Amino acid sequence: MKRTTGQNRAITKTWRPATQAIRGGTVRTEFGETSEALFLTSGYSYDCAEDVAARFAGEQAGMTYSRLQNPTVEMLEERIALMEGAEACRAQATGMAAMTTALLCQLSAGDHVVAARAAFGSCRWLTDSLLPRFGITSTTIDSRDNDAWKAAIQPNTKVFFFETPANPTMDIVDIEYVCTLAKSHGITTVVDNAFCSSVIQRPMDFGADVVAYSATKLMDGQGRVLAGAVCGTEKWINETLLPFQRNTGPNLAPFNAWVVLKGLETLELRAMRQSENALAVGKFMEGRVPTILHPGLESHPQYALAKKQMKACGPIFSFILDGGRRQAHDLLNALELIDISNNIGDSRSLMTHPASTTHHNMGAEAREAMGIGEGMLRINVGLEDPLDLIDDLDRALRKVGL
Ligand SMILES: *Cc1c(COP(=O)(O)O)cnc(C)c1O
Repeated sequence: MKRTTGQNRAITKTWRPATQAIRGGTVRTEFGETSEALFLTSGYSYDCAEDVAARFAGEQAGMTYSRLQNPTVEMLEERIALMEGAEACRAQATGMAAMTTALLCQLSAGDHVVAARAAFGSCRWLTDSLLPRFGITSTTIDSRDNDAWKAAIQPNTKVFFFETPANPTMDIVDIEYVCTLAKSHGITTVVDNAFCSSVIQRPMDFGADVVAYSATKLMDGQGRVLAGAVCGTEKWINETLLPFQRNTGPNLAPFNAWVVLKGLETLELRAMRQSENALAVGKFMEGRVPTILHPGLESHPQYALAKKQMKACGPIFSFILDGGRRQAHDLLNALELIDISNNIGDSRSLMTHPASTTHHNMGAEAREAMGIGEGMLRINVGLEDPLDLIDDLDRALRKVGL
């Protein structure tokens, strides 16, 4: 047995998040490799038939099949849980696999969900189009309005589902209020934390039950792989999520888990620097564009709430031009450095027009209700020198008459 770090959970749990990001969950093979091993295997072999029988009976620890366990994936799950301050985590193939699993694993026909109106397009599709096919009803509300959450509760409400800041309107949900309200009604809260990561916001510190991720975003952070994760209590993960996940198979591939493990090592550095850069770029844009929706600027109507629950503003903000789709597309086309791309959390600066991309499918009426106009643009600020980003934006804004 090689000497390894991170084996005594009583000690590892006391490590601070920046330490967890580098070391949390690490398990070493007999070779003592410093970087996590990549186990590209679908199955496992056994010393004898009795061993395999004991494992399947749950009497012997060990792996049986990579849909159920994989060492590389488990290292990632343990690390994400430790960084989140969660008891347990399970990784999924994509962020949407994580959201679908987090909802379907606990909902049945006859249940009701209250969901934030402002949300990632595919999350809205889950609540608006998928759940009703299985007899699960939903009410979508203005998630900034605490009273709206309260008013939407029905006797059969099982889940509150929201993201904060929301994509792309940057609406902020009062996590503590909404989670306390849910608890008093026996409702489970599922928070999509993709815009922040645990470095910037830990919803469980404010009472959230389940935190779900697109790890494609800040966790990988370098635009390489799709990945997802769901965090919760040990009991909820084992008894509610796992039976669904093990039998439906939305698993994360070991290679992608390994890439995200490498991403987590630099997550804190990236998330904090990208937030600083986003603040610098946001300050430049303020006054230059008619409307800016930026949780790090005092002009955001929920600035105080953002400050309370977020450690930094995050890399993403939106702004609205008066000239509609034509002017928004012209601005995108005038960029020389910032890429036209709909991803977020990447170390590269990316900009997209939500109405014609991420939120195209939901239709104009739902977009309008959500506050996504034709003049809205969303930017993910990367790790480039913010002065170069400002130069690029300045040039592009002049070109469209701003
Ligand atoms: C990207 C994203 C998702 C979906 O994640 P994928 O990894 O692309 O499947 C879900 N929620 C939010 C808020 C996102 O930004």
